[in-house]
Amino acid sequence: PFNATPPLIDADALVKKDQSRLIHPHLPGDSTERVVVVEGDGCRLRDAHGREYLDATGGLMLAHVGHGRRELIEAAAGQMSQLAYYSSFHEFTNAPSIHLAERLIELAPAPMERVYFTSGGAEAVDAALRMARLYHHRRGEPERTWVLARNFGYHGITYGGAAATGFPMFHQGFGPMMPNVRHLTPPMPFHPELYGGEDPTEFCLRELRETIEEIGAERIAVMIGEPILGVAGVVEPPADYWPRVRELLSAHGILLILDEVITSFGRIGRWFAAEALGVAPDFVVTAKGLTSGYVPLGALLVADRVADVVTRDEGFVGGYTYSGHPTACAVALENLAIVEREDLLTAATDVGGHLGARLRRLEELPIVGQVRQVGMMIAVELTRDPDTGEPLSAEWVPPLVRERAGVIVRNNPNAVLLSPPLVMSHDEADRVAAAVADVLTERA
Ligand code: PLP
Repeated sequence: PFNATPPLIDADALVKKDQSRLIHPHLPGDSTERVVVVEGDGCRLRDAHGREYLDATGGLMLAHVGHGRRELIEAAAGQMSQLAYYSSFHEFTNAPSIHLAERLIELAPAPMERVYFTSGGAEAVDAALRMARLYHHRRGEPERTWVLARNFGYHGITYGGAAATGFPMFHQGFGPMMPNVRHLTPPMPFHPELYGGEDPTEFCLRELRETIEEIGAERIAVMIGEPILGVAGVVEPPADYWPRVRELLSAHGILLILDEVITSFGRIGRWFAAEALGVAPDFVVTAKGLTSGYVPLGALLVADRVADVVTRDEGFVGGYTYSGHPTACAVALENLAIVEREDLLTAATDVGGHLGARLRRLEELPIVGQVRQVGMMIAVELTRDPDTGEPLSAEWVPPLVRERAGVIVRNNPNAVLLSPPLVMSHDEADRVAAAVADVLTERA
């Protein structure tokens, strides 16, 4: 429960200071809008004015076990009272990072035998790109530097992650980007206009084959992709897409990174999306749900054949100060224990299905093109014209839903995105669905 009395905070003074002192991601410079979040409990949040909200985004798609969990507070405090931090460089190590690595290897979707810790998703993406290039370099193919990525893929905003990200807004004004990155088309069956009448999977495979031919397989290091596109709006590929991609890559000695920063640790009702893809990647990138966001942590899972090469000779050169952070790893261990103990994989499927079914009714509205749901990842894609699928901006939805109903949702350019904590109740899910329905129905 929340503290009995709202915290004594002068919200207006804080907001003023925020406006002059902080740089926020994705906030227009002239915006005076701020929500000072002070407390979280389960799926509920409270701001400095004492207003309550229902968190239907799980922060940034990560609060799997909900806010305010005592177990995680105690795990952090327990580890901090013993050893808050020490480095993992060189020969130094610590028990929580070793135990967590073991647990991740147990849970891994395919044989992945080694773990490299980072502070978040983009750092882990960067580490995977570095390892992929180093792997080829050490095996005598230093010209294999090209990275294949995909339009509409999101991989974070470090220079490596941003270069791999397939949304132009993350490149414009920030160039030059990391060179030797080529973006391909992912299968998005809801957008047939991308494929000129061809079957989406056939189009994507043909484009991949032609790109490999054009660049030359002997110059390509790795391909990176999200198994299910997240920020692009919860887009599941046709079942044969990833197996066929993997087959083609393997035939040409190209490695595969699956970015599971969103999809891992229960979000889609499985530990990893890759379990259902029928492919064995060389790297799996994770972060977010690994700690439910209580502390920053990312983990890169690496297949043995790659790990053997990147750890030989002088080892893998490069680390992050917080690699293998003992407190972060202790919190992750307890967080994963909660996901297992409370069977949040089943909960994600159950409540996600319930919320998805409620929202799918909105497909009757002329402004709703498609509702896509996988576990607790949902996108409500808006359209100006249900026949042509012409996009309609979804930017106006989150502020209205928050103002009217105290429900927090996000948007990408054309879709309302929901990714609640996996502990959300059916009642709370009903409130979320009703809040979104109210606003969309009125506009339609
Ligand atoms: N990869 C994916 C698929 C993501 O969704 C994100 C963040 O949303 C990232 C990478 C970047 O992670 P971080 O923000 O922790 O660097």
